Formats: sequence, structure tokens, C-alpha cells
Amino acid sequence: MRVGVVGGGIIGLAVGAELRHRGADVTVYDPAPAGAGGAWHVAAGMLAPGGESVFEFPQLEPLLEASNALWPEFAASLGDVGYDDAGTLGVALTADDVTEMAREWKHQKLSPLTGSQLRDREPALSPRIRAGAFAATERQVDPRRVVSALRTVLAGRVVARHVSDLSEIDADAIVVAAGCGTEALTGLPIRPIKGQVLRLRGEPGLLTHVIDGAADGRHVYLVPRADGEIVVGATQEERTDHRPTAGGVHDLLRAALDLVPGLAEHELTEITVGHRPGTPDNAPIIGRLRDGVFVAAGHHRNGVLLTPITAKLVADLVLTGTTDTIADDFTPGRFGCA
Ligand SMILES: Cc1cc2nc3c(=O)[nH]c(=O)nc-3n(C[C@H](O)[C@H](O)[C@H](O)COP(=O)(O)OP(=O)(O)OC[C@H]3O[C@@H](n4cnc5c(N)ncnc54)[C@H](O)[C@@H]3O)c2cc1C
Repeated sequence: MRVGVVGGGIIGLAVGAELRHRGADVTVYDPAPAGAGGAWHVAAGMLAPGGESVFEFPQLEPLLEASNALWPEFAASLGDVGYDDAGTLGVALTADDVTEMAREWKHQKLSPLTGSQLRDREPALSPRIRAGAFAATERQVDPRRVVSALRTVLAGRVVARHVSDLSEIDADAIVVAAGCGTEALTGLPIRPIKGQVLRLRGEPGLLTHVIDGAADGRHVYLVPRADGEIVVGATQEERTDHRPTAGGVHDLLRAALDLVPGLAEHELTEITVGHRPGTPDNAPIIGRLRDGVFVAAGHHRNGVLLTPITAKLVADLVLTGTTDTIADDFTPGRFGCA
């Protein structure tokens, strides 16, 4: 079967790789096959099924958990993509921060930790931190390395092309996985949600866990890579521009330094802006749009986490016409489309 995948971001490439693995003749279309145009390039790569999203759309939780369970095998199939299972420390600076963060910790049934218990695990944390919790199943991966590995799997199959209309694609089946570009191709409601992310660099080993915290009402996460890079994210803004702003960078750095004062000596190496593809209910769209046309888009802030399960569900649908019932809540039909 000849399948055209529109969009060579992390979702399109993973869908293409899975279809190819199962014997399909796959072509992926993206205007910049070797470029850095997608949200994946900015994303920190937290694999956090217990985050805020489950309060917005509770049906999302089983999908996030199922994809999280697929990650170890998916990562191993791609080689070294920075998959790190040290886990996440949730931390809160003030009493108000504790109240706010405790909602997520309670939902995940995590045991509370005191400030000194947190510093036993992660000595670089500020002595001002009041409380926290350890989430063993919230892990991380490096999305840039994932995309690079998927591009290698699909070498020679990714064509440099911006698709303006699906009728341009000559294939037995089309998968639209164009992130924020999906609305223009399908009419499905997907809006860009701006996020600013910083990358710092210093001696490796300052942090060993992902830190997900609140400091005086400012939310921040710190994702430490083995080579000394620490990804600091992220703002969430209903805006379409690509400008980093003084306020966004200030808020991220202020919260990061409040939680981990030793970061003050790190080099600020990157400021990036990306757009999460969000839907009206902030859950992804995975399913059949019409005969021969499938959609895998709108993954908002969990696209990296949801990559393995999206690839599996969409490959099942394209090749067999049916897929696991876990996808039933995410069809295009909930927005009045097929
Ligand atoms: C600041 C920020 C932080 C994030 N952090 C995390 C995180 O920690 N964990 C997590 O799980 N997720 C995170 N995400 C979300 C994640 O990055 C996205 O959900 C994910 O990248 C979506 O993947 P995608 O392939 O659908 O879209 P993208 O990665 O945006 O890729 C879309 C691709 O489609 C191509 N395209 C668009 N239009 C067309 C067209 N007409 N023709 C051909 N190609 C087209 C684009 O060039 C692009 O390459 C974050 C996102 C942002 C912005």
C-alpha cells in the first residue's frame, strides 16, 4: 500500500516509520526535511502523563499512560535518544505553590516529601523549597535525537514539499500529521499555542531528575540532559508570533533560579519559540477523516509523550481499517467531521 504522510515532525515521522516497518510504501512530505521547523525542536521532551492535561480532558489519561508504557521499547528501537528514567521531582517554593502543586500530586497518589527529603535526592535544590513529591514514572527523552533517529529510519523517504492541498498527493492513503498546519489542510480546529523555552549549559550532574515546580506562582520545569544541558520551559501563550519576549524569559529564569540557585553560573545557550498544536478540548485528533484520509494531529503539550501510541494506532487504522478502542475519544468526529 502506498501511503503519503503530510508533515515530517515527530508525529508524522513516527507514523511513517511504523507504517514502513509493517511493509507500507511510505513517502513523508515536509517543506524542510532536515530542518527544525516543528514544535518538536523546541519541546523539552518530558514524558509526563500526570500533568495538568488530565484535568482538562480526563479521557486523555489512559492514552497518556498507554503511550508512556510504550516509550522504553520505542526508545530502544531508535538507539540512544536520551531516554532517561530517573523520574521527576515536583517541587513548590511557597505555601501557595504547595497548595497548587498538591492537586497534581494528590491525583497521582504521590507521597509528599519535605524540603530536606527533596534535597537528599537533589542537593542543588534551594533550601527555601517547602515541599514536593517524586513521580517515578514521569521520565524524559530528547525530541531532537528522536527526530534525527526517525529521519535515519526513513532515509530517502522524506520529500521536501509544502503540501497546499491533499489532492496533490498520489497515494492509496494519506495521513495528515502537519501539526499547526493541519487546519489549513483539513478544516479541523487546530490552533497554535506559543511556548518559549531556554537552554542552559554547565557542568553535567548539577541535576539528575527532571524538576517540575512552582515558585511564587511561576511554573517552570528543568530537564537535565546527560551532557550538561538543562532545558527550561515553558511559557504558554495564546499567540501566533515567533518573538521571544523579555517577560517570558524573565519569568522562566526567575523561577528556575528560585528553585535551583546554582543555575546562575550556567551559560544561556538558546532561546527558542515554538507552537503547540492545540484543539478546542486540548486533546489530540487521531482517526479517519474520510475515505483514505487519516489525521494524527493536535497533540498540544503531550506530542512527544504520545508519539509511540499515535504511530501504532494510526498504522493499525491505515492498514486494517480498525484500531484499539482507546482511540475512540479522539476521532475527528467530535468536532463535527467524519
Ligand atoms: C514549548 C513547547 C514545549 C513542549 N514540551 C513538550 C514536552 O515536554 N513533552 C511533550 O510530550 N510534548 C511537548 N511539546 C509538544 C510537542 O512538541 C508537540 O505536541 C509535537 O511536536 C507535535 O508533533 P507534530 O509532529 O504533530 O507537530 P510538529 O512537531 O510541529 O511538526 C509538524 C511538521 O509538519 C510540517 N508541516 C506543516 N504544514 C505542512 C504542510 N502543509 N505540508 C507539509 N508539511 C507541513 C512542519 O514543517 C513540521 O515539520 C512541547 C511543545 C512546545 C511548543
